[in-house]
Amino acid sequence: MTKVVDHIKKANGKTLFSIEILPPMKGQGIQNLFNQIEPLMEFDPKFIDVTYHREEYVYKKREQGLLEKVAIRKRPGTVGICAALMNKFHVDTIPHIICGGFTKEETENALIDLQFLGIDNILAIRGDAIKSESRFTPTPGGHHYASDLIEQITKMNSGNYLNQEVENAFATDFCVGIAGYPEKHFEAPNFHTDLKYLKKKVDLGAEYIVTQMFFDNTKYFAFVDECRAAGINVPIIPGLKSLSTLSQLTVLPSIFHIDLPEDLVAAAEKCKNNSEVKQVGIEWAIAQSKELKEKGAPCLHYYAMTKSDNIVQIAKEVF
Ligand code: FAD
Repeated sequence: MTKVVDHIKKANGKTLFSIEILPPMKGQGIQNLFNQIEPLMEFDPKFIDVTYHREEYVYKKREQGLLEKVAIRKRPGTVGICAALMNKFHVDTIPHIICGGFTKEETENALIDLQFLGIDNILAIRGDAIKSESRFTPTPGGHHYASDLIEQITKMNSGNYLNQEVENAFATDFCVGIAGYPEKHFEAPNFHTDLKYLKKKVDLGAEYIVTQMFFDNTKYFAFVDECRAAGINVPIIPGLKSLSTLSQLTVLPSIFHIDLPEDLVAAAEKCKNNSEVKQVGIEWAIAQSKELKEKGAPCLHYYAMTKSDNIVQIAKEVF
């Protein structure tokens, strides 16, 4: 399959289309996901990212009032879903590989599985703290930062596995993408410290950046300028989300640590119901997309998550 950076090179300046989806909730079949993606295929997405969701802990009541801490995962299956989508739609799929919850050995095994499946692209990220922790805590024997994970992947790309006794080990050939934050990662003390660590990830071998969602293009353009000034020269793919409910006016800033422009908030607040809000979101995303495309963004990456009808409407206008 083709690496993201090669898709961008081949496009020769044309803006590409890509999407990001969530694995279905545990217990649901894959058909719904196929149905969600099918209408987007006519716009020729060059790759589909599949997010990864860590375990959460719940307390279950047991006899004599005892509570048992049980780990549950609501959306398992990232790698399997990538393989299924790849076979069904003949499209490149990108699993998100996270640090949290994995030892380095488990990560190595996951990477070996990806290589067997012919999946050459990975988005390497740290992951967030689980709900029961106040801050991200690395798994014992696992990675602390995305940069550590990238280092492991880069070593495998040169044939260096954790267990040096592995003989005749294949050098993998993964193209590694990373996350970037035009409005700063929420834990970083300031924008430039965050940028320093972003550069570290690129220096360690990351080949492209996908941004956190933003609703104000000036933030993306300023981010690209700051990255270039800091010597980060890899493609920076803007991540876009279409606002779809009134509650997202507060939910999105609290989860993703981003600002929503006043004009967008005012337009959404005037709506009588969520279907009107959704339309406002679509129109906003179309305007954002058209400007990003005009100014040469390498690819527009849409956070479709579990729905696609709004992305179909946007793609019809933009691609
Ligand atoms: P890092 O690059 O490790 O940075 C985390 C923080 O530590 C930053 O504040 C950074 O400035 C700082 N830092 C980095 N390196 C160092 C260092 N060496 N020393 C000190 N400080 C350092 N989460 C999921 O759980 N699953 C997903 O599928 C998923 N997909 C995502 C896709 C995209 C495009 C984006 C933007 C985010 C995604 N996330 C996902 C969320 C992501 O896991 C969180 O934002 C997480 O808090 C940070 O991940 P990171 O890879 O940016 O971390």
